[in-house]
Amino acid sequence: MPTHPIAAFALAAAAAAAAPALALAQQPTVKPEETEVWSPVPEIVTPGATCADAPSDAIRLFDGVDLHEWVAAGTKEPARWKVHDGVVTVDKKAGDIETKRAFGNYQLHLEWQVPANITGSGQARGNSGVFLATLGNDGYELQIVDSYENKTYVNGQAGSMYKQSPPLVNAMRKPGEWQVYDVVWTAPTFDADGTLKTPARVTAFHNGVLVQNDYALKGTTQYIGQPWYRAHGPSPIRLQAHGDPSPPISFRNIWIRELP
Ligand code: MG
Repeated sequence: MPTHPIAAFALAAAAAAAAPALALAQQPTVKPEETEVWSPVPEIVTPGATCADAPSDAIRLFDGVDLHEWVAAGTKEPARWKVHDGVVTVDKKAGDIETKRAFGNYQLHLEWQVPANITGSGQARGNSGVFLATLGNDGYELQIVDSYENKTYVNGQAGSMYKQSPPLVNAMRKPGEWQVYDVVWTAPTFDADGTLKTPARVTAFHNGVLVQNDYALKGTTQYIGQPWYRAHGPSPIRLQAHGDPSPPISFRNIWIRELP
């Protein structure tokens, strides 16, 4: 054995370099082809012109023309929010609207705008919300509110899962500018007896910025008290007509891709 420290180091380094080659040599002979997967072949989807545009396999929930995919929440009558100039503006008197269709897991794109003439503060400033699955008056709300230089409780600002999970960052644009939500929703699953099997999970981007990273919900989002789960299957998506007195917000370009 060399006694010189540098010589000892060189020997050790040479042994370390030889080790991976030895490990490879000891492995059974495998071909690259053995770890290739050729089927099933992913379906071809034609993407939109930009990432905001619906890809070929999306359902357009609102394309600026009418609200045929929506009904008034509760009554299921035709949705009465006003469509104009390619956008739909919340009618607070008409109440919430929800999709006619029910969804399980999905990818959702939705654009919303707090008007430039917004008034109020805290939660009373452009409040709305998108319930990623709605169960009557209950559900899982991804909050919509003006969070541009407008302080409120952080688990109630834009991009929060209401009163459960604050957004990772505040990516809010100014009132008058369009905001974009891109959401991946994994619905909760339940055992036959109704107990929770796997929680709902949400990943959300606000204006392209990650604000919810695979967050596991504790249950439906509650204004008062703790979240809780009750068994449900595929559910509509609901947009909130919040009763705050500030001027109403608008939506445009809403599309969804159902996921397995
Ligand atoms: Mg809200």
